[in-house]
Amino acid sequence: MRRLYAENHAHQTLAFVREKQAQYFPLRRARMGVWEAMGALESLVDESDPDLELPQIQHALQTAEALRVDGAPDWLVSCGLLHDLGKVLCLFGEPQWAVVGDTFPVGCAFDARVVYADLFAANPDVSDPALSSHLGIYREGCGLDTVTFSWGHDEYLYHVLRPYLTDEALYVIRYHSFYAAHREGAYEHLFAARDREWMRHVADFSRYDLYSKVDEPLPVAELRPRYEELLEGVIPPTLQW
Ligand code: FE
Ligand code: FE
Repeated sequence: MRRLYAENHAHQTLAFVREKQAQYFPLRRARMGVWEAMGALESLVDESDPDLELPQIQHALQTAEALRVDGAPDWLVSCGLLHDLGKVLCLFGEPQWAVVGDTFPVGCAFDARVVYADLFAANPDVSDPALSSHLGIYREGCGLDTVTFSWGHDEYLYHVLRPYLTDEALYVIRYHSFYAAHREGAYEHLFAARDREWMRHVADFSRYDLYSKVDEPLPVAELRPRYEELLEGVIPPTLQW
């Protein structure tokens, strides 16, 4: 795990993220539906991502089912199913360190509460005064939607699903790996009112993302129709990736 973060923290500079955004955000890599993307992820195996020990479809359904059983609203259950689909980035040749793991703002000081924060010592942005002050390129209270985040599956999927989901659902997807904020309370100086309110949803969601693992695999074929129905009229049959 530390090896993955050594790569991640050394390479996630503001310039790197901007380059990745320019590379991917025309969304012209592939056309796939939700279930096709889910199936494509099955070919991924990696020891450094705890989520990937389990077939991705199991992780998706277990997260969604745990939320549903606890009476979560449909939009949050849908987030459970969809939240990790951005890992298809691996299929496009991205290394694991640029896909999975915690996310954090770039363009300002890295907070010590980010996991393995000592590894940021190898990041070139820390020696650029403009990018390493407390606020860096941002203003106090600017709101996370104006902040550039490290490149990974959250930010990518947010862009893929942006035309289809509500702002709250997109928020959960976009920040679900921002543990420094939703678990540790870091980066609140960049929060706007909306972030203070909605980061709580992300923290709630995270408990299901992390702790929904069950011993018996869920019956995929049996559950799939329920989720097809849930997404019907919300997510089109084919998405642009
Ligand atoms: Fe994730
Ligand atoms: Fe997950």
